[in-house]
Amino acid sequence: MARRKMVAGNWKMNGARDANASLVRDIVFDVKRFPDIDIVICPPAVYIDPVGQMLSGSSVQLGGQTLCEQEKPGAFTGEIHGGMLKDIGCSYVIVGHSERRALYGETDAVVATKFLTAQACGLQPILCLGETLEEREAGQTEAVLARQLAAVIDAAGVEAFKSAVIAYEPVWAIGTGRTATGEQAQAAHAFIRGQLAQANAKIAGSTRILYGGSVKADNAVALFAEPDVDGGLIGGASLKAAEFLAICAAAQ
Ligand code: PEP
Repeated sequence: MARRKMVAGNWKMNGARDANASLVRDIVFDVKRFPDIDIVICPPAVYIDPVGQMLSGSSVQLGGQTLCEQEKPGAFTGEIHGGMLKDIGCSYVIVGHSERRALYGETDAVVATKFLTAQACGLQPILCLGETLEEREAGQTEAVLARQLAAVIDAAGVEAFKSAVIAYEPVWAIGTGRTATGEQAQAAHAFIRGQLAQANAKIAGSTRILYGGSVKADNAVALFAEPDVDGGLIGGASLKAAEFLAICAAAQ
């Protein structure tokens, strides 16, 4: 089944008012060239609202980079409820990014809870899965991906993937300049789709699986040509308008 490609920019903890304004202006100026893909920008939380205002009238959608796992808002100092992300115009939220897993102790169980909370708030989770270099070298890639995905399927059910996106992000490729080859990405994406298919073949066929990890304009074409790669989750290259737009062109 044909899946609409998606390019999502994860700005991580980068940006400032003036720089954001110029980046967003350049992206919005050119985005009409890409009517056949979904484009999402995930700024740091404090900039989501002003970036959303700059995006108004364009087809670019907004996403958060994380959310609080709590189902209801309340006394959780410093946290951001999914309903708040929805309220300021987000359609998506990244869940289970490897930096959240490694630096902030997010376990598979926490990631699954965040996935559920995101959907309860009307947001589509972009669920990140991926193995470390040690795990790959130990031949554990498939076991890690299966475990991370099963935690969410067990908690949310496979039907939940009707309104979710998966991002395969090998940890060894994130921010390192070392990209998975098209073949490596395809093998991991096909494995993830196969895991979903064991639960529901139709949902597996329609779920978008993005690749993330040092995607640049010059490697995006080869990655996005793979049959199970449905676009990209882009970190560093999403901070440069020309580079990000060239990646969008590769997905179009
Ligand atoms: C990411 O942070 O999700 C990511 C893929 O980063 P980069 O593109 O910089 O490797």
